[in-house]
Amino acid sequence: MKDTIAVRTIDSLGRVVIPKEIRTRLDIEDFDSLEISCEADVITIRKKTPSCIFCKSTNVLKEFQGKTVCFDCITAIREAGKK
Ligand SMILES: [Zn+2]
Repeated sequence: MKDTIAVRTIDSLGRVVIPKEIRTRLDIEDFDSLEISCEADVITIRKKTPSCIFCKSTNVLKEFQGKTVCFDCITAIREAGKK
């Protein structure tokens, strides 16, 4: 179910404030990353969840040199290194 909570005006730099009620409901904190996409005339803003840089999985993630990689891809990279 979608509900319009507020109407906001975009400023001269293209910024718009996400209402505090929505930030609180979705546990969005200062400096969190958000994904912004567009389809037809609809703009979607989604809280970015960490995912594997190779397969986009969100299961069993590890950070390596500033990049996020899943356990399956770590295993596949190890196996490729043995060949
Ligand atoms: Zn992966």
